[in-house]
Amino acid sequence: MELCSVYRQLTILFLAVLGILSVQAQVRAESVAAISQVEWIHGSPECREGIDPPIQVFQQDKSTWVLRQNKCLSFEAPFMYLLLGDDRALLLDTGATDNPEIFPLFTTVRSLIGERLLLVLHSHNHGDHRRGDGQFTGQAGVELVAPNAAGLRAFLDKADRTESGRSIELGGRDVIVIETPGHQEESITLYDTQTRWLLTGDTVYPGLIYVKDWEAYRESISRLARFAQKHELAAVLGAHVEMTDKAGEYYPIGTVYQPHEAPLTLSPDILQTLETALARTDGKETVLLDELVVQPMNSLQRTLSNVARFLIQ
Ligand SMILES: [Zn+2]
Ligand SMILES: [Zn+2]
Repeated sequence: MELCSVYRQLTILFLAVLGILSVQAQVRAESVAAISQVEWIHGSPECREGIDPPIQVFQQDKSTWVLRQNKCLSFEAPFMYLLLGDDRALLLDTGATDNPEIFPLFTTVRSLIGERLLLVLHSHNHGDHRRGDGQFTGQAGVELVAPNAAGLRAFLDKADRTESGRSIELGGRDVIVIETPGHQEESITLYDTQTRWLLTGDTVYPGLIYVKDWEAYRESISRLARFAQKHELAAVLGAHVEMTDKAGEYYPIGTVYQPHEAPLTLSPDILQTLETALARTDGKETVLLDELVVQPMNSLQRTLSNVARFLIQ
């Protein structure tokens, strides 16, 4: 009789755990569905007549926002991510425009997080991800990590080391930083433990991804694929959308109106797919997948990139 009751209690406990797990999985699936279905501002056929705001703000949950810059301000139209913990917030990237009058990023971020402390990091050191830095420089309660090699190194060296990368604590919310050079030397990827999003900047996004250092890029993608095997990932989110809604097709560079653009969200499976595709290459050919295209920089592009990097270090 007693044994029977123990079995019954164990069964109830087992079913309860199953129930909690399935509710959690459902919540996660719904949250990914929400961001997959956002209709992002995507420019205008006639920018002078465009009525979209300079920055679109999508709120994922009470402490997570995704911001997109208007294509009519910059065809790059980067995405920026704002993650708020109990102690401070983290902003990943500052967009492609410096002027706060036409691109009010700082005031937008303050309107979302109030006067809380703010850490500003960059997915990498390209202009379209750091041009808004001046709006944050010298502001009270803001720590702006310089996007160059020295700034990033000093910041990472201070951060706690974990098995998979460096850890940033925001207060009840940890973010893991994984170094992912290849597209650019200072490229990093963030893993947010709250949303389980992998924020890949220009390393992985639905578009035409230029790669400066093919070997480094291949290693970085393998690192992310291994990370995905050990951690639960809800989605891979990059910093641009350039693909159309047709497999393997992208809008040409400079496009300011993308009425049929692909969703921002990529499935975590893309990391394994990309790793496999890259393993077959020698760094001379373009890798064309349904979701994205990876292209090695030619020598002129690499030289220009080196000159630009030298000038801004
Ligand atoms: Zn870039
Ligand atoms: Zn970019």
